[in-house]
Amino acid sequence: AKQRGRNKFEFYDASANALSLRRVTLEQHLHQALARGEFQLRYLPLVALPGGAPVGVEVLLRWHPDIGEVQPDEFIPIAEDSGLIVEIGAWVLRTACRDILTLPAAAGLMLAINLSPRQFKQPDLMNRIDAILAETGFPASRLAFEMTENMLMDNLDAAIAQMRAMKSRDMRLSIDDFGTGFSSLSNLRQLPIDTLKIDKSFIDDLHAETGDACIVRSIVGLAHGIHLQVVAEGVENERQTAMLGALDCDLAQGFHFSAPLNLAELRGYLETGRP
Ligand code: C2E
Ligand code: CA
Ligand code: CA
Ligand code: CA
Repeated sequence: AKQRGRNKFEFYDASANALSLRRVTLEQHLHQALARGEFQLRYLPLVALPGGAPVGVEVLLRWHPDIGEVQPDEFIPIAEDSGLIVEIGAWVLRTACRDILTLPAAAGLMLAINLSPRQFKQPDLMNRIDAILAETGFPASRLAFEMTENMLMDNLDAAIAQMRAMKSRDMRLSIDDFGTGFSSLSNLRQLPIDTLKIDKSFIDDLHAETGDACIVRSIVGLAHGIHLQVVAEGVENERQTAMLGALDCDLAQGFHFSAPLNLAELRGYLETGRP
């Protein structure tokens, strides 16, 4: 038993080491990623309900280092912990603004950018954003920033001040992954936000009979009651789409409408209405 216990210990120890080794390796690679041009952007269309007309895109970061593609759910937290997300996030915003301005102006797409906690808490965040908008000529009123509930709640007053600075420039603000965090309704009411994005987990089993339909109905009711727009994330089929229309959800995104597209694909999608 003693022997087995010892092996067990070594087993866990070895796997923990392998994990931290991967983290260290990825962090080393991340330091070079911008200089080596290893990042790419994908654009996930945001469509109006009913009808599915595109009204915006969400920017999703992709990383292809020479060790093989790494998913955002793995590298974004490492970029966040190491502080690299600040420079990477500036590159994302600058590149996306330039890209979207090459599309027909009539498309007038909103550009939604994910903000990580570390970026959001940078004291010079607004200076950086202002500089990028001045440099690219992208209109502030077509920018939307997505933030999660939890990153706002740990210092609500500072978060509100940062958000007001964004609102004073006419930018739009969204709560991402709504329903998975810990914000209370009274906290939510204090925030100068425009949009709630209902997390994909509430959309996955959205059938007439499920409890998720009740949850989505009450989120939509709550949001509309305080004049917020509602976006459903991760919509994958027609059944969910019909249900969301019936529940009065305003906007949607997900593979049913389009997968994340590169700029050329997005241009084609806007011309033909198909990915
Ligand atoms: P998120 O902001 O919640 O982004 C939505 C994620 O769901 C994306 O994954 C997207 O590809 C995926 N998705 C959208 N529709 C569907 C669908 O119908 N079905 C399925 N199965 N998945 C769908 P992705 O691109 O892997 O990004 C994961 C997370 O990484 C994002 O979650 C976001 O938190 C973060 N992230 C991505 N790009 C950036 C960025 O530029 N900056 C920051 N700070 N975070 C980013
Ligand atoms: Ca998002
Ligand atoms: Ca989300
Ligand atoms: Ca999510």
